[in-house]
Amino acid sequence: MEYTIGTIGSHSALNILNGAKEEGFKTLLLCEKKRRFYERFNVADEIIYLETLRDIGNKEMQEKLIEKNVIMIPHGSYISYLSLGFLEREFKVPIFGNKFLFRWESDRTLEREWLKNSGIRIPKIFEDEEIDREVIVKFHGAKGGKGYFFAKNREEILKRVGNEKNYQIQEYIKGVAMYFHFFYSPLEKENILMSIDRRYESNVDFLGRMPKGFEIEPSYVVVGNFPIVIRESLLEKVFEIGDSVLRESKKIHEKGLIGPYCLETIVTDEPDIVTFEISARIVAGTNPFVPYSPYSYIKYRKKMSMGRRIAMEIKNAIERDRLEDVIT
Ligand code: AMP
Repeated sequence: MEYTIGTIGSHSALNILNGAKEEGFKTLLLCEKKRRFYERFNVADEIIYLETLRDIGNKEMQEKLIEKNVIMIPHGSYISYLSLGFLEREFKVPIFGNKFLFRWESDRTLEREWLKNSGIRIPKIFEDEEIDREVIVKFHGAKGGKGYFFAKNREEILKRVGNEKNYQIQEYIKGVAMYFHFFYSPLEKENILMSIDRRYESNVDFLGRMPKGFEIEPSYVVVGNFPIVIRESLLEKVFEIGDSVLRESKKIHEKGLIGPYCLETIVTDEPDIVTFEISARIVAGTNPFVPYSPYSYIKYRKKMSMGRRIAMEIKNAIERDRLEDVIT
């Protein structure tokens, strides 16, 4: 049986489809009508244009995808366009990875439980107690750092949030942000660090270049990503954290994490690593690593992007008749 690797036209679609082509798969892109730039790259064998991405969930579209033997690769935009309940219960097209963990990455309370139970260091969360340090306030459902703000006391926060009740007050960790991209292979039973990125955020990353005398409040809207490597002596700790959340994921869902996941951290000057978020799928921070990162090259001694690693896992699973182990 011939399979096609499909994804939605956004986020890390170029990375995913390029990797699928490198591993010899046919590729399919589902894309909004107004977004034409994918045609300029040679990665999608077929593009299906949709009025809105929500149409992916239509019965006819699902039937079409199943007929074509499509395996969908989820990325950050899936959760925005298809509701979680729909993905879990009604979407019948096979998805690479564990879609049952998406709820745990998108709900801040569940996400925190996952990280906390993993026994790793996380920022303190303030509920009703006195706020005795700098904090960052995050609205639930906020994406890409949008709407976050920095505060020092509760009055400031109450003034800023207005009637909105759905937010979390997190200790502001002082250090540099690093995003660790892991890949867990259920076939090889191996947890691999593929790459690390740093985000480029507007306007906080511009503040250092700001002319003297300007007063600008920092915002954290992600607009790009840089590659980075971590000081080598900290790698042991990175793997410990990665393995801990992986172990914990199996308590949340029997299949646990499958394939790519990302830990969003701040590396402090102690030095220590404080994890503030997790993504249970490919992140856009892997995009600078087409065709490879220093870590993925050293591991595989050939070009190995996250998109390609995903396709390789699917290919191996098909060959070993173990597709069920890598899809949900
Ligand atoms: P996020 O969208 O949650 O990944 O966060 C966007 C950005 O906000 C991060 O890249 C950091 O620059 C900043 N940030 C988020 N949480 C914290 C925290 N607890 N301490 C310091 N900075 C943070």
